[in-house]
Amino acid sequence: MIRTSLFLLACALATGCQKQPAPNDPDPSDSAPSDKHHHGAGADDDVTIKVTHIAGKVHMLEGRGGNIAVSIGDDGVLMVDDQFEPLAPKIRAAIADLTEGAPKFAFLVNTHHHGDHTGGNPVFGQDAHIVAHANVRARLSTPQQRRGKTIDPLPEAGWPVITFEDAVSLHFNGEEVRVIHLPTGHTDGDSIVHFTGSGVVHMGDQYFNGRFPVIDLEGGGDVEGYAANVARAIEMLPADSKLIPGHGPASTLDELRAFHTMLTDSIELVRGHIAAGKSLEQIQAAGMPAKYSGLGSGFIDSDRWLGIVHASLTR
Ligand SMILES: [Zn+2]
Repeated sequence: MIRTSLFLLACALATGCQKQPAPNDPDPSDSAPSDKHHHGAGADDDVTIKVTHIAGKVHMLEGRGGNIAVSIGDDGVLMVDDQFEPLAPKIRAAIADLTEGAPKFAFLVNTHHHGDHTGGNPVFGQDAHIVAHANVRARLSTPQQRRGKTIDPLPEAGWPVITFEDAVSLHFNGEEVRVIHLPTGHTDGDSIVHFTGSGVVHMGDQYFNGRFPVIDLEGGGDVEGYAANVARAIEMLPADSKLIPGHGPASTLDELRAFHTMLTDSIELVRGHIAAGKSLEQIQAAGMPAKYSGLGSGFIDSDRWLGIVHASLTR
């Protein structure tokens, strides 16, 4: 109480003390519905970080926002994505439970620029070198337009300091960690992260497991490019790979194949409707095939998914 009063007094004496919008406010479309209210420390009190060992050195962390992967070993901690800034203390505590002594953060890889995957960058970037595709740095360091909103840049502490165009390898905790860019898919800066020794791949938002995906057309994404990237990942990855999707539970390549079939079915369906002169409203009224009805319970329902496919195919 005393601390609050002092803070308010300090505010009254200072200029520019009004509450600032959170940097890189995520589009709720790639966040859980409650993410709209993530501003303020109190909003995240109900979030617990669930930790699952996937294989080898790699654990998956789920809280709110995109899934996190961490490699824990003698070289320290390599982290992939970091959810929202207010969750950083809980994420750090969950990682500390996996390490002997305080965690030594060495690298943080961003799979893409969205705020539900990079919100913790200004915190973890103080310890770890942030690695990402060049377009991720470009988008995190400049204002972005998304669905009628301007998203502020992150503070510089949250910008990637190691960028690449096609791929980069980190040799860490006894294995090669390949960060591979997939062009023009979910955004224009997506990478997947292959822990080659552990046999685990963080797919970023190139994979939404059990739900229709968000594809950010304003952020350089494309529906056909997205499907092509998924096909390329299926082709490239060893058959026994364990997958961490950007959102949804961990899975195998079989489930990624089913996801790819859903994508190509959707593209074919909408393309057929467009050729037959149907409007978007008519396409949405006809809907997705019944076998995909379970995928609309995430942030993207069937209407919105068909809208994304239609927008991508008709621009
Ligand atoms: Zn995303």
